[in-house]
Order: sequence, then structure tokens, then C-alpha cells
Amino acid sequence: MSSEIHLSPRPGDWEDWRWQFRNRFKGLHGLKKLIPIPRNQEGDYKDLLELYHFAATPYYVSLIDFSDPDDPIRQQTVPDLRELFHRKGGSVEDPFLEQHFSPVPGLIHRFEDRVLLMSTTLCGVYCRHCNRKRNWSKKGVPNLSMGHVREAALRYIESHLEVREVILSGGDPLYLRDSILEEVLRRLRSIPHVEVIRIGTRAPVTLPMRIDDDLCSMLRRYRPIWVNTQFNHPREITPQSKLAVDRLVTSGIPVCNQAVLLKGINDDIKILKELFQRLQAICVKPYYLFHCDPVMGTDHFRTTLSKGMAIMERLWGKIGGLCIPHYVVDLPNAGGKAQLMPTYLLSMDGGEAIFRTIDGDIVKYPFRD
Ligand SMILES: *Cc1c(COP(=O)(O)O)cnc(C)c1O
Ligand code: SF4
Repeated sequence: MSSEIHLSPRPGDWEDWRWQFRNRFKGLHGLKKLIPIPRNQEGDYKDLLELYHFAATPYYVSLIDFSDPDDPIRQQTVPDLRELFHRKGGSVEDPFLEQHFSPVPGLIHRFEDRVLLMSTTLCGVYCRHCNRKRNWSKKGVPNLSMGHVREAALRYIESHLEVREVILSGGDPLYLRDSILEEVLRRLRSIPHVEVIRIGTRAPVTLPMRIDDDLCSMLRRYRPIWVNTQFNHPREITPQSKLAVDRLVTSGIPVCNQAVLLKGINDDIKILKELFQRLQAICVKPYYLFHCDPVMGTDHFRTTLSKGMAIMERLWGKIGGLCIPHYVVDLPNAGGKAQLMPTYLLSMDGGEAIFRTIDGDIVKYPFRD
């Protein structure tokens, strides 16, 4: 199915991010344009969409091969009743107790030197695996475009000298109007102890036309800015997304990737190897590979830690180090992120360390204290 035919955009519309945003497939009505919904499941789908929104840009939908029920982009986009009914033990709405570390609404201060600002609940595409999906349908979740919320968060940062990095996170900060985003950046830049601004956004993947010249020439004035995005599958790397990344990078904004390990989508050595290598080739540094968190409504995406570990084993030393992300798991109860790494050091005493090599050989390495 081609959504372009469905929507018949006029020339230039497709490349216009505002058109893409306005014409998102949304709600039950939009979903019915994409998949058939049997009459006896309509009620369940209604419940599902009430709890967890559905919206998707025509651009991202156009990447789906609808003849494949397991299409990796479809699975990230199209609501699935398993979000309601597939429950494994242990998953909860907010395993990280983010609320506990929120001194003012919309701001999370969990690690000393950096804070996370939830800028809006709006996203171009609501990723079915999102670990903040609890927030989508909640009224009263702050939106940085609300003056008083923004004010309180900025004042908190101003008065906390230990904060050297501010992470604008989601929802997706790039769905704020340029003028509001610029106002936030300008204020942050006026705080001497804020050295670095990070923007977490999926726009390069789900709405690459958002990264236009206007945005980039604005962003470049507030550097150092780092953009972290989320490519999960090589099929998301298109000429358009490549152009979006290129615009950022040539504006002096480094781009890193935080992929999520997703069952049936990318929990496969061949797919991840291709993803990471192709990301490096478009100047995106694979930064993290997140294990899919035990968040309610995402259970069907979770694979095992041992599978993730096995994939990392097979990458390390086999592909360039610049292609390899840290595989991390966000620990429940605000435990922070833990890194899962293959270990090569077997023992270390008596002036000698014993290593195994990537080929499984044993090597002695002499050392002196
Ligand atoms: C992951 C996370 C960060 C950023 O951590 P990095 O390791 O610097 O990427 C900041 N705040 C919170 C609450 C987080 O969960
Ligand atoms: S763009 Fe990010 S915040 Fe928005 S739904 Fe996707 S993962 Fe969640």
C-alpha cells in the first residue's frame, strides 16, 4: 500500500514537515486506512488507542511493506492488541521511578551532572515499544511550551550548579515550534554551568524533513548541541534520513544513535551488524543498544539478556569499534544503567593477567603493579 496514493499530496507537500505532521494517520479512523480491523475486535482496538495513542507520519508509514505482517517498521508503528493482553510478570508503568526524581514537573534529575527535560508529550510517530508510553494519554503531563513549566524547570537548572548537561527529551522536542525551542535553548545557553545541550529526537527517522535549513541554522547558534536519535532497523536509513543527518552534522551537531533491542525486529546479528555499519557510514555513532525495558504494554518486544549478550559477543572485534554501541539495561528502582559487556579478562594475579581472545584462544599478559 502506498500512502502517497492514499493522500495525494501536491508537489512539494511530501517534503514539507508541516504537511507530514498535519496528515499523520491518527486514531481508529487512521488505523483503519492501514489495516483491516475485524468488527469483533473494534472495541478492543478502541480501548487500546485510548490507553496508548496511535499516530504515524505518512513518510514513516510509506516505509512499511504491508504484505509482510512482521515488517519491522510496521511492528514499531501499528498498534497491536498484545499491548493490552500480553502481560509477562514484572512489567510496570514506570519501572525507573522517574517520578521520584522529578523535583519540578517535567524535569528528572537522577544523575548528578545531567538532567532530563521532558519537553512535550507529542511525537510524530508513537513507537509501540516506547518506555514512556504511560505518559501519552495523561493530561497534565507538562509541555515545555507551557510558560510556567518551562520557567520552573529553567530556574531549577539555574540554581543547581552541578548540572552541566541538559537533555531535552520526550515526547519529541523537535515537535515544539522553532520559536519555543529557540527560547529554551537561548535560556539554557545563558546559564554558565550548562556546558552541553543534548536533544533526544526520533525526527531523523520518522520525519526527516523536520531537519530543514531553518532548524539547522537556528540550532548551530546554540552549540555544543548533540542529537541522539533512534534508528532500530537498517530499512529506516533512507535517502531522506541520510539527508537529515547530513544537515545536522554539517551544522556542527554530532549525531548518536540509541537503538532498542526489539524481539522480531532487530534481535538478530545480521540486522544489527548492518544497522550499526550503515549508521557509521552516514556519520551516526551507535551510542547505546538498550535492552527493552519491562514497561507495561511492551512485553511482546522483549527478548532475553542472553540473546543480547550473544549478539554483542559476535560484534566485538569483528566490526570496527566506531560501529559498536554500549549494550545497556536500565535497572528498575532507579538503579541507573548497567552495561553488559563480553569479558575477555579471565584472571589477574601474581603479575600475570590471563585473557581470552575474540577467537577463543588463551593469552597471558605480564604486568607489574
Ligand atoms: C539515561 C538517562 C540519562 C542520560 O544518561 P547517559 O548515560 O548520559 O546517556 C539522564 N537522565 C536519565 C533519567 C536517564 O534515564
Ligand atoms: S519518539 Fe521517543 S518518546 Fe516518542 S514514542 Fe517514540 S520512543 Fe517514545
